Amino acid sequence: MKINILFLANAEDWRDYEPPLKEALLKKLGPNFILSDSINAEIVDYIIYSPNSSINDFTPFKRCKAILNLWAGVETLIKNKTIKIPLTRMVDEGLKSGMVEWVVGHILRHHLGMDNHILNENQNWLPRPPPLAKDRITTVLGIGALGSAVGTALRQLGFKVRGWSKNPKSIKGIRCYHGPEGLTKALTNTEFVILLLPKTPETENVLNERTISLLKRGAFVINPGRGALINDGALLKALDCGQLSHATLDVFRIEPLPIDHPFWFNSNITVTPHIAAATRPAYAAEVIVDNIKRSEKGQKLLHLVDLGRGY
Ligand code: NAP
Repeated sequence: MKINILFLANAEDWRDYEPPLKEALLKKLGPNFILSDSINAEIVDYIIYSPNSSINDFTPFKRCKAILNLWAGVETLIKNKTIKIPLTRMVDEGLKSGMVEWVVGHILRHHLGMDNHILNENQNWLPRPPPLAKDRITTVLGIGALGSAVGTALRQLGFKVRGWSKNPKSIKGIRCYHGPEGLTKALTNTEFVILLLPKTPETENVLNERTISLLKRGAFVINPGRGALINDGALLKALDCGQLSHATLDVFRIEPLPIDHPFWFNSNITVTPHIAAATRPAYAAEVIVDNIKRSEKGQKLLHLVDLGRGY
């Protein structure tokens, strides 16, 4: 019997994903599949899903074995009560590389004080060499798939790297902390904070007036995680008084960021339009098909979402 795989996203995604998915399916599973963006719900075996799909009631998919999400963040899906089957999230080499490159680029901008020279309209001669990475502390909040890759890259550049997670972890080159008490230790005196946590009730506003006050004066915030991880008012206040020097933000409570939002007008904030790490079809297709193959062999799926935990 053929494996019926339904692709549920928008039309543009289907155009981009169909060729690499077909190629990966043929390579890894042989010709025994049907891949389409329209299959009778009752015979669907797997759903490849993007939350931009107009379909969000999974009740009719009675025989479906898993929902394979194309996005890394799953905060919209965990509230969906019609999901009663395994749900996976996207973890792939494309996302990891994209996130590492985006974070490292923005950290180095601030670490090297590049704005002083690039934006130097008055031709000031400013012979102040930047500090060395090995003399500066960076803290990655959330050291899962993306945070650990970012922390490892920063360590390779020489930075002292701390990481924070929910459960105890051990990652080579990263001083790992966990839990509420670990947060204080992870943030105290750090100069760069990178937020790579999922959005859950526990992580909302993790960066707030109290936690920002723990950082070294003049610290930098880099947020490619989720907008709700930061208390916006506390961030603006800390930028105003110099506790923070700059915030580079890729994600926001409302996206697109409204045109009248104060973040657009603050010269100490850089706004990027949720582009830190995109799911790229050629990389994602490999992981999706590996998971279908695992499921068909009766093996546990990779990157399973824990609906109770929220990520
Ligand atoms: P992940 O592998 O699930 O890692 C999440 C990390 O957060 C884990 O280390 C986890 O701790 C930690 N965490 C969760 N709740 C916590 C809590 N209450 N206290 C302390 N630590 C907590 O996720 P990922 O793949 O690295 O992705 C991280 C986030 O990046 C996604 O959720 C998404 O929001 C964001 N993202 C953004 C973009 C973009 O383009 N801007 C792209 C992709 C992803 P444990 O290790 O103990 O579980």
